[in-house]
Amino acid sequence: MLVDRLGRPLRDLRISVTDRCNLRCTYCMPAEVFGPDYAFLPRTELLTFEEIERLARAFVDLGVRKLRLTGGEPLLRRDLPELVARLGRIAGVEDIALTTNGLLLPRLAADLQRAGLKRVTVSLDSLDPEVFGRMNGLNVHPQRVLDGIEAALQAGLSVKVNTVVQRGVNDEGLRELWLALREQAVVRFIEFMDVGNHNGWNLDAVVPSREVLARLIADGTSAEFRPVNPNYRGEVAARYVDGEGHEVGLISSVTAPFCGDCSRARLSAVGVLYTCLFASEGTDLRAALRAGASDAALRAQIAGVWQDRRDRYSEERGEITRAHKVEMSHIGG
Ligand code: SAM
Ligand code: SF4
Ligand code: SF4
Repeated sequence: MLVDRLGRPLRDLRISVTDRCNLRCTYCMPAEVFGPDYAFLPRTELLTFEEIERLARAFVDLGVRKLRLTGGEPLLRRDLPELVARLGRIAGVEDIALTTNGLLLPRLAADLQRAGLKRVTVSLDSLDPEVFGRMNGLNVHPQRVLDGIEAALQAGLSVKVNTVVQRGVNDEGLRELWLALREQAVVRFIEFMDVGNHNGWNLDAVVPSREVLARLIADGTSAEFRPVNPNYRGEVAARYVDGEGHEVGLISSVTAPFCGDCSRARLSAVGVLYTCLFASEGTDLRAALRAGASDAALRAQIAGVWQDRRDRYSEERGEITRAHKVEMSHIGG
């Protein structure tokens, strides 16, 4: 089995299919930076579906079992269901997931399901139109995301919801959001992270997961939460259920880092392989692909990168500073 320098296997591959997005979340692609003049990647730079499929096969040959499509906003990539279908045909792939802001799900959910997708993760930070409008940078109403969630459920997809929590921004409405969604979806609250270079992160803005959990039961009407076992080794969300069996997930990337179990590789839309969300450098696989590398050569290159991997940024946070990190919109979280 292929393992890195800290003994971690390669199990997951996150594939970013575009660097573009139809939102401008302040913690990810702030509008001041990603404005009208921002130079997004030209189409010719992006990996084609054939190239993505070829690389995905190489990763699967090396041990990857789970694929996740992300962005930017992956639903902006034309013909995405076709890519889902292609990836679903790779022998050895056990699970394909998609992370999306949900805005285009009413149009695409049924096609994605027909292409073989089983589940989606939809990001939604607040049900308060003002709070959400501010956070998404474009004043988009939360109902549009709720419509996307509904469309996904109608199409037969299972849904998880990701909520990034920022102190003083959306931390007042967490319980309300959880109550509104818990029948349809597992809500997972994510600690605000210092990804990229532009989101003005500071530790004071992080609401520790234990505080999030306390807020969910703050008014005393909910039964205590009890922890439940992870679904699989390396699951990033710590799971809890309330007395009625409703689940909530807490992703404590800052207060309880999970680098020790991190088996995720990330492929940017232009084919650069990153071995950590907070990396500054990656390995250009597209160059090899377009220079005619054989499957064996691609596998050897990827294996070499993984075997050399020693990333554990979240465990070292505070001890090290990193001048330049890859943008979240390039590797998709
Ligand atoms: N556009 C899609 C979406 O928003 O779901 C997929 C890409 S987005 C970069 C993937 C996930 O990363 C989203 O759930 C988003 O909320 C999360 N994310 C982005 N910036 C973050 C940050 N600074 N801290 C924590 N999570 C973040
Ligand atoms: Fe777009 Fe997703 Fe980033 Fe928000 S979190 S700006 S929806 S890529
Ligand atoms: Fe994995 Fe890097 Fe996150 Fe640690 S900081 S869990 S190594 S992506």
